[in-house]
Amino acid sequence: MKDRKEYYRKIPGVDVLLEQPSVRVLIEVLGKGIVTNAVRKEVEALRELIRTGTEEEMERELEAFSGNLPEKILRAGRVTPCRVLNASGILLHTNLGRAPLGNSQRQAAFEVLSGYCSLEWDRETGKRGKRREHYEDLICRVTGAEAALAVNNNAAAMLLLLGTLEKGKEVLVSRGELIEIGGKFRIPDVMEQSGMKLHEVGTTNRTRISDYERAVSPETAAILKVHTSNYKICGFTEDTSVEELSSLGKKQNIPVFADLGSGVLLDLERFGISHEPTVQEVLKKGADVVCFSGDKLLGGPQAGILAGKKEWIRKMETHPLMRALRPDKCTIALLAASFREYLDEDQAVRNIPVLRMLSRSGEELKQQADMVCSYLKEGNLQVAAEVCESRNMVGGGALPCEMLSGYAVVLSSRQMSCEMLMEKLRKLPVPVIGHVKNEKVWLEMRTIMPEETELLKRELEEAGK
Ligand SMILES: *Cc1c(COP(=O)(O)O)cnc(C)c1O
Repeated sequence: MKDRKEYYRKIPGVDVLLEQPSVRVLIEVLGKGIVTNAVRKEVEALRELIRTGTEEEMERELEAFSGNLPEKILRAGRVTPCRVLNASGILLHTNLGRAPLGNSQRQAAFEVLSGYCSLEWDRETGKRGKRREHYEDLICRVTGAEAALAVNNNAAAMLLLLGTLEKGKEVLVSRGELIEIGGKFRIPDVMEQSGMKLHEVGTTNRTRISDYERAVSPETAAILKVHTSNYKICGFTEDTSVEELSSLGKKQNIPVFADLGSGVLLDLERFGISHEPTVQEVLKKGADVVCFSGDKLLGGPQAGILAGKKEWIRKMETHPLMRALRPDKCTIALLAASFREYLDEDQAVRNIPVLRMLSRSGEELKQQADMVCSYLKEGNLQVAAEVCESRNMVGGGALPCEMLSGYAVVLSSRQMSCEMLMEKLRKLPVPVIGHVKNEKVWLEMRTIMPEETELLKRELEEAGK
């Protein structure tokens, strides 16, 4: 084998590469910084290959290096994160940013991001204001809570909730509610993190109020009820209601907290799905504080919302952790805009995309599928397309057992495997993300908003080129 030094010597210099005509063109489009960065990265990767590669690999890579460079720069220069078309049919796809935002929500954020804003400034007095003043009244109006506070996400809300309790004391939780949300977020671990002792009560399938009663002691700091939002236990089960817990809490002078997960603010039965406890109901039944996500079924930005008794909310607001968990101006604008929509339920269903998607009828979805399908038949993407009935999931750890019936455009190709077709769709300027079932690629219509249909058509046209 030749000395590796000889190969190192053959690596073109960054300056030389930047002068290459095919690269200079890209500098005009992407800017010098992006291109230089990409070229440096590729040169480093080549050096690494020469350090470890076989002779054959080194020869091949050196030979192809300049030719492949423009393509690699383009890939590295792509803006990320980027918009995607979610044709998976999963409404709250955590990997795809959970709840998409509607016009009124986006507009509110755009205004605030366009210059300075009144984040902590009161226009009435001209004096310092509080961040929560932008959303607290709205949240209280919609949920019936006395006070409310927003933090970075629901995991942060849980930390803050437990963080306000006296360290080292116990929190009672049913064994049927010791959930894992995903990404290592497990109730027992969060409890440990916050310096509280988890006191498990009852059994996996049955927990009665008497189990809680027996567990209460001078060491008890709170009772926590966790909504098992991402799984269901069925069969021989028994659950303790918030009413029972809150009456026990009142008697013993112990607060009752509830982690609701999704933050449902309206009756889901109006969409033909089974009832989920709403924030309003749980507060009315006597929970002292509830916490929930902003970007699940609520349909707003990533946030954690704490709502309930003033006494507790104010304690959380002045907790040292609050500074680390507080949301930024963009989130606050989006949150306030979302709750403004909820002041009128029908308006919320029209303007909040997640609710609108839930409310889309089979007829509407079929029409959209027919349109996309007929377009594909005329177009030049070499695939067979048909419209099929399908089932959609809510996702995002919400309503795990509910299926919504939907419609999809189903693609198959003699020339391409499903994986190849999926890859082709994924690599479009605006990636189209479908799913594979029965050896076909399914593009679900429920999560493609009507106003996105044109964009989907354009991307499919691009795929056919
Ligand atoms: C999703 C969920 C969380 C975590 O919420 P994030 O906003 O993702 O941090 C916590 N608890 C329950 C019950 C959940 O469903």
